[in-house]
Amino acid sequence: MKILAIGRNYAAHIEELNNERPDEPVIFTKPETALIQKNAPFYYPDFSNNIHYEVEILLRVCKHGKYIDKKFANNYFDAIGIGIDFTARDLQDKAKAKGLPWDLAKGFNGSAPISKFIDKNEFKDLKNINFSLTLDGELRQQGNTSLMLFEFEEIISYISKFIMLKKGDIIFTGTPKGVGPITIGNKLEAFIEDEKLLEVEIK
Ligand code: MG
Repeated sequence: MKILAIGRNYAAHIEELNNERPDEPVIFTKPETALIQKNAPFYYPDFSNNIHYEVEILLRVCKHGKYIDKKFANNYFDAIGIGIDFTARDLQDKAKAKGLPWDLAKGFNGSAPISKFIDKNEFKDLKNINFSLTLDGELRQQGNTSLMLFEFEEIISYISKFIMLKKGDIIFTGTPKGVGPITIGNKLEAFIEDEKLLEVEIK
């Protein structure tokens, strides 16, 4: 399986990082070794002093496809989850300044904690999902999928032009505003609507 992600998909988050609003989705990947599952802890790595949380809604891909038309993109994911796109912001800033790739800033070990997945048919409206993140019990990020610049179907269609999607792939769909640093001892909790689906202790 592979992990795909879109950057800069919520206007208010683009502003907080002083980024440019993209005309096309900004896509990056993480290796499978980035996954953390079943609420296992995250171990703060020694190569960064500025790891940020970014809470994001996840799509689980359910069949192979390339050049997927937006009209049919809905058939290519079957479940929704929530995850954290941990980002070594110091490494990313350095890479950005030099115009270099973000791979190490985004794809390091444990940089992708994910929840279990929920059948997408259990959601009344996929374009109106509330999600949030707390740090040590304090609300830090709050988003709604209606605020995405590129919606699920557009993301799937766009990615599949370049990279074939396969069953079991996971797509991170972008973070709303409120990103910030973690420190050892913090506990992150992520929610879809009022249900807590993910917990990560920073060790
Ligand atoms: Mg992100």
